[in-house]
Amino acid sequence: MIAFNVPPFTGKEMEYIKEAVDAHKICGDGGFTKKCNEWIEKKTGCTKALLTTSCTHATELAALLAGIGPGDEVIMPSYTFVSTADAFVLRGATPVFVDIRPDTMNIDEKKIEEAVTEKTKAIVPVHYAGVSCEMDTIMDIAKRHGLFVIEDAAQGIMSTYKGKALGNIGDFGCFSFHETKNFSMGEGGAILIKDAKYVEDAEIFREKGTNRSQFYRGQVDKYRWMNYGSSYLPSELNAAYLWAQLEMADEITKKRMDCWNLYKEMLTPLAESGRIELPFVPADCTHNAHMFYIKAKDLAERTELIEHLKKNDILAVFHYVPLHSAPAGLKYGRFSGEDVYTTKESDRLVRLPMYYGLTANEVEFICEKVKEFFK
Ligand SMILES: *Cc1c(COP(=O)(O)O)cnc(C)c1O
Repeated sequence: MIAFNVPPFTGKEMEYIKEAVDAHKICGDGGFTKKCNEWIEKKTGCTKALLTTSCTHATELAALLAGIGPGDEVIMPSYTFVSTADAFVLRGATPVFVDIRPDTMNIDEKKIEEAVTEKTKAIVPVHYAGVSCEMDTIMDIAKRHGLFVIEDAAQGIMSTYKGKALGNIGDFGCFSFHETKNFSMGEGGAILIKDAKYVEDAEIFREKGTNRSQFYRGQVDKYRWMNYGSSYLPSELNAAYLWAQLEMADEITKKRMDCWNLYKEMLTPLAESGRIELPFVPADCTHNAHMFYIKAKDLAERTELIEHLKKNDILAVFHYVPLHSAPAGLKYGRFSGEDVYTTKESDRLVRLPMYYGLTANEVEFICEKVKEFFK
């Protein structure tokens, strides 16, 4: 059986976890968390990176920092994971869904401006499959209307747009280190902050509303309750696991990229004959091989394809029932303009197995089975 995903494991994880245990430091913000934060800062150029318990929580932190509140509107695609919307609905805001582009499956930057109202507070681009949204256009709209840009870069670590790291283009960026992502800590994430003026508030929101971070640095002689907040810092045990991955980030990315390129090469004839569509990476973008997907003709054909692969012991999956048509989406959000591509394209998309450790032989086998189906 070829799994759809296997959590990344490089070999050093247990050693680092033992190190944390032996050092009697297993709560948050110890040495491994610090190393991971610094690694992200160096890699992306952001002013401050803070590990969090998930990308969901990183997005909640960003919503707090942006001062999102009841009555505010936040623009995002409907084709995304629920967390993108949850973080803002929790603050009483309304997600305003904008259609996607069929080529990248990202929010259609040309349809954003017509969704802006006087209530709009932020735009949340989601970099699907680690391929960047059209950030120049999005940043320009945000600037002209005075909006925050909060990047859902859950899938975007190591990817770039015009040479800039995803996650550090908008005001805030959110990474995920869930076990299905390129680098993992089981459950976890990070918030990336561009402007230093938000760092102190971010530390306070993340540490239950206290200034404990300042206390640890010796900047204050006792720590106190400064504001509302929550507990968004992960345990050192998780950070130790992540460190073993970040240390090998280039190697992990290269291996994933080899698989991605092999898929692309082997499936290009099917795409050229018009049977399937392949992912599109705009010229200004480099990606991280987070995902390899293909698009079938329609929902019925996709269902049969997944069934065919399953019969051959290959687990392929689809995802994202568009948020605007889900029960909570109907209750809390609204769609701006027309759903031309969101539902139609999401119905056609199927993700093929992709993980660190997937072999070239397995990719070849999967491609043969895909070709067999379309014969
Ligand atoms: C994985 C993912 C998330 C959620 O990440 P968690 O770390 O599980 O909270 C959010 N948005 C997108 C686009 C994702 O792919």
